[in-house]
Amino acid sequence: MKRTILLNPGPVNISERVRQALLREDICHREDDFARLMASIRSRLLRAFAPNDFTSVLISGSGTAALEAAISSSLDRGQRLLVVVNGVYGERIARIASLHGIDVKAVRAEWTARPDLPRIEQILEEDRSIQALAMVHHETTTGLINPVREVGALAKRHRKHFLVDSISGLGGEPLDLDAAGIDLCVGTANKCVQGVPGVAFVLVRDTTMEQLSTVQPRSLYLSLWENRHAQETGEPLFTPAIPAFYGLDEALAELIEEGVEARTQRYARASALIRQGCGALGLSFLLPPEYRSHTITSMNLPPGFTYRTLHDQLKARGFVIYAGQGHLAPTIFRVANMGDVTLDEYQEFIQALTDVLNTH
Ligand SMILES: *Cc1c(COP(=O)(O)O)cnc(C)c1O
Repeated sequence: MKRTILLNPGPVNISERVRQALLREDICHREDDFARLMASIRSRLLRAFAPNDFTSVLISGSGTAALEAAISSSLDRGQRLLVVVNGVYGERIARIASLHGIDVKAVRAEWTARPDLPRIEQILEEDRSIQALAMVHHETTTGLINPVREVGALAKRHRKHFLVDSISGLGGEPLDLDAAGIDLCVGTANKCVQGVPGVAFVLVRDTTMEQLSTVQPRSLYLSLWENRHAQETGEPLFTPAIPAFYGLDEALAELIEEGVEARTQRYARASALIRQGCGALGLSFLLPPEYRSHTITSMNLPPGFTYRTLHDQLKARGFVIYAGQGHLAPTIFRVANMGDVTLDEYQEFIQALTDVLNTH
């Protein structure tokens, strides 16, 4: 039987090798076996994404759990965070911070626009009470790549902590944590890293990690400081999602073998194929080419189609596309190309889309 191809931005189709890893033996998380597994994942994360002066902390849960851990562990109640918002996930950062009593100031842009750098600089100059800056690397809402490096340079110049949600970026887009001046970077297993849902992580600059000890804890489960301490000593704080850890360990081994650079290029080829094919079918794109990521293509729904009809007809042919969010929901659809999927399979998707558009 032909497998269903997931064209949603995670969870993704995984390789057979990662699937087999999920079936490794039953282990207790208070034994050496688990300590070794955890150490392997944490060091592979650094090898893949952050070679120098960083540590990694694993959080069982989806990407949002790690994001909430990073935000709530790095700022005290009442401290001020400037959040750059141009999509659903930027809004999510602001929402999480507010729920934790952080004083949020948001600088918003249209969802189809890049953030206004001079405006961010002006706010940093005028408001000295801002402690930190946060933004999304790859806005999954639209597939827009944000100027992380430029915003990071502003954060550094003004001596602010810089927190980045790269949950849909890491593994799919180039990101040099040092060059971008990132202090905390959030990622997850089941997007471009090609693991399965259940575990996410935060890459934390060593010097930043030391400063987190002074932040008043407001979560038992999501304290980065406590989790890091426990993970360094080989025992997780609470029961981890062990099969997801197995999957992440194998997925990282695979990523390192493929090379992060090579993976981003593989994804770039896939998105180029999709864009070429969809463009030839007369579909129009939400974003100009220079804003687009390697992994998400947002397109206007073809005339005469609702998202539901387009989705259902493609699903019947074995392809799962993804809806737009917020005010874009009625007019767009998204096609993601993350995961262990071949160019031939993306070509089959273009063929299926051609059939659907022609038979309508
Ligand atoms: C997927 C995603 C998240 C987290 O979503 P979960 O469902 O919690 O894994 C957060 N931010 C961005 C940018 C994402 O793409």
